[in-house]
Amino acid sequence: MTKTFDIVVIGAGPAGYSAAIRAAQLGMSVACIDNNLDSEGNPTLGGTCLNVGCIPSKALLDVSHKFHESQHYGDIGIEATDLSLNLAAVMKHKDSVVNQLTSGIGLLLQGNKVEAIEGTGYLASENVVVTDRSGNTEELNAEHIILAPGSIPIQIPSAVVDEENIVDSTGALKFSEVPKRLGVIGAGIIGLELGSVWNRFGSDVVILEALDDFLPMADARIARDAKRQFTNQGMDIRLGSLVTDSKVNDQGEVVVTFTQKEEEHQLVCDKLIVAVGRAPNTDKLFSPESLVQLDERGFIFVNEFCETDAVGVYAVGDAVRGPMLAHKGMEEGVMVAERIAGNKPLVNYDCVPSVIYTHPEIAWVGESEQSLKGDGIEIRSGTFLFSANGRALAANDATGIVKVIADAESDSILGMHVFGPSASELVAQGVIAMEMGSTAEDLALTMFAHPTLSEAVHEAALGVAGNAIHTLNRPSRK
Ligand code: FAD
Ligand code: NAD
Repeated sequence: MTKTFDIVVIGAGPAGYSAAIRAAQLGMSVACIDNNLDSEGNPTLGGTCLNVGCIPSKALLDVSHKFHESQHYGDIGIEATDLSLNLAAVMKHKDSVVNQLTSGIGLLLQGNKVEAIEGTGYLASENVVVTDRSGNTEELNAEHIILAPGSIPIQIPSAVVDEENIVDSTGALKFSEVPKRLGVIGAGIIGLELGSVWNRFGSDVVILEALDDFLPMADARIARDAKRQFTNQGMDIRLGSLVTDSKVNDQGEVVVTFTQKEEEHQLVCDKLIVAVGRAPNTDKLFSPESLVQLDERGFIFVNEFCETDAVGVYAVGDAVRGPMLAHKGMEEGVMVAERIAGNKPLVNYDCVPSVIYTHPEIAWVGESEQSLKGDGIEIRSGTFLFSANGRALAANDATGIVKVIADAESDSILGMHVFGPSASELVAQGVIAMEMGSTAEDLALTMFAHPTLSEAVHEAALGVAGNAIHTLNRPSRK
């Protein structure tokens, strides 16, 4: 029997479940299909983010940071001896956080009367989805269909994942012991976050990055400071290193071959993490008759409203253009649900915050100084170091900087960049300011509680006009 819904969503990651929940809240009948299974083969909602992405990685980042910090308690007068790591207990903590949140998605879908369907969805035509659960198929009809299939790790022939010695990000979240020597391919977000986790737990980490530039998407000053800091933390980041081969030898070691400055080198490690990007997960998702198209990079082609070329079919999240970030997908999911209901919201792609959860964290919104200058835009910027921030010093966590960039003429904030403690939280102030169309002066005229890390944002905003109080203003700003 064919079931009919107002909306069928394929994928219950952040983009899909947000779309489903919002659509149900708006009074529509909704089904949400998901095929994700946990390591024991049980269905689990929440997609990459909750199961093998944002959440488990942050659990390991937070625990490993606490572990690392505890080894330096002596610096602030706490004598803690005999601290040791129980990795099995760490993993149990991580798994329980994941379980709590993934089962929470089930409750949210249920509570909002979304029909959660286990299985694989296939868009057969503009209005028809066929679900398949272990060979049992069912046909669903819907006026509107939202594709939210997410992304999968990119595989490279020079480092084939065997899930034992050579792993992707999922494997790197469940090592049963701390690898003595850990190789990482890719100094992108995953490489730096997971490299940090295992570095703090005691691995000797070498990160091989093909590009000559470190974090080219970040503000250049911050990327430079961050590279120095991560190197001081013990991560050996080798830029301009293109991996050409990886083999597991008879001793179970991974021998990685890479070229740097046209010379061939080898790295021997116990585990190798391949973190070279992610690709849209569109395999066997839709039939050609559905009229859905891919763009030249293999993402589902959509316009600014996340409409595909097929009438009534939308696509959101990692499978479409734009940054592969959970919050970007959630906003797209909500936008599509609202637009189907007749409302007219838009996603402001100029205000998507990016965060790298290293320590210190790196976070930004808007444009970097180098990209604005490259576009010939005249800017003024203000910076403030956490080493002059009372709260950061009190917390013994005073490495980093805030930079606020404004248009030289209009003073509109064009970007905010933070490298420092709680950067992921502080950047939200820049996001709100930019969403509200604030000038740097608006931020400068706002009162911030003392002593807080947020005062660094305030001082950087004051610094745009050369008015910072707690640092010397650069003469050129007056
Ligand atoms: P996904 O979360 O990938 O969900 C898609 C779901 O659809 C999956 O459950 C999949 O099984 C299912 N599916 C696919 N095809 C079908 C089908 N045909 N039928 C049924 N079901 C299907 N982002 C952040 O913003 N912050 C972070 O801190 C962060 N950390 C990350 C750490 C790691 C290690 C990784 C790998 C990613 C991280 N990300 C982070 C990225 C984030 O996980 C993704 O941007 C986000 O999950 C994308 O959401 P989505 O809903 O588009 O897709
Ligand atoms: P990435 O694109 O951030 O980095 C991949 C890196 O690998 C690049 O710097 C690339 O130059 C390098 N590389 C590629 N091939 C190589 C080779 N053969 N040898 C050496 N280096 C090579 O991708 P990622 O780190 O895998 O992350 C994937 C996506 O997941 C990102 O787009 C990100 O949006 C998302 N993510 C987000 C967060 C977060 O928001 N904190 C965390 C993790 C992942």
